[in-house]
Amino acid sequence: MALYVAKFGGSSVKDKEGLDRAARILAGERHKGNQVAAVVSAQGDLTDELIAKAAQLTGVPSPRELDQLLAAGEEISAALLAIRLEAIGIPAVSLLGWQAGILTDGQHGDAHILELEGSRVVQALAAGVVPVVAGFQGVDRLGEISTLGRGGSDTTAVALAARLRADECRIYTDVDGVYTADPRLDPEAVKLDRVSYDKMLAMARAGAQVLHDRSVLLARRCGVPIRVLSSFAPGEGTLVGDAES
Ligand code: ADP
Ligand code: ASP
Ligand code: MG
Repeated sequence: MALYVAKFGGSSVKDKEGLDRAARILAGERHKGNQVAAVVSAQGDLTDELIAKAAQLTGVPSPRELDQLLAAGEEISAALLAIRLEAIGIPAVSLLGWQAGILTDGQHGDAHILELEGSRVVQALAAGVVPVVAGFQGVDRLGEISTLGRGGSDTTAVALAARLRADECRIYTDVDGVYTADPRLDPEAVKLDRVSYDKMLAMARAGAQVLHDRSVLLARRCGVPIRVLSSFAPGEGTLVGDAES
């Protein structure tokens, strides 16, 4: 029996079809006898829309209130995916960052995860319940909500995979793997079957938003294999790990 963390990005959970696809991917793993914990991003462009709403009110929203606002995006997705899982007969529990025990340094808008306590996630898995963790957020020692920087749900997923010693951290997105360049911009881009942490880190730092750079750093440090794959079409995706193709 394997244990996977499966993270679904914004485009993968943007509507009811996406939520259903994600739920069925998780159900499929359970059907194979594997355990799964999910991490979700805000639906579609919701994070951008929330930022725009705040910007209509003031040019300088307080970083604290902006984090309170943006964290709601991931919270909605977590509850919706848990609702859909239960609707197809899979017991599930959504957990906000603080409920999953994600402790951050409190730097609003760009927080680092200091620790992921994770006991409620572990308990859920032991009880045969799928934990669905809101990505991109945690709390500091004072209980203040902070977000992890744009694209930060990838880092939540890798931190959770490290905590659970998961066999793989699967990043489900809207492309079928990591390419030599952004496949939406460069028709010559070639899909990679495997890519090393170092090369992936360089690509992420150069702006390849398919993975949050901090998620790659954390994966390298903790030895978490990451697999980037499409939530829309089956496939092997790209394995990000120690060995290069
Ligand atoms: P998600 O919402 O799932 O987190 P993102 O938009 O953050 O998805 O990342 C996926 C996008 O990253 C793809 O749609 C693609 O346009 C872009 N991208 C940029 N560089 C690359 C690359 N080298 N390989 C694959 N995708 C890339
Ligand atoms: N919703 C956040 C963002 O749009 C975090 C994420 O998607 O990973 O940046
Ligand atoms: Mg992303």
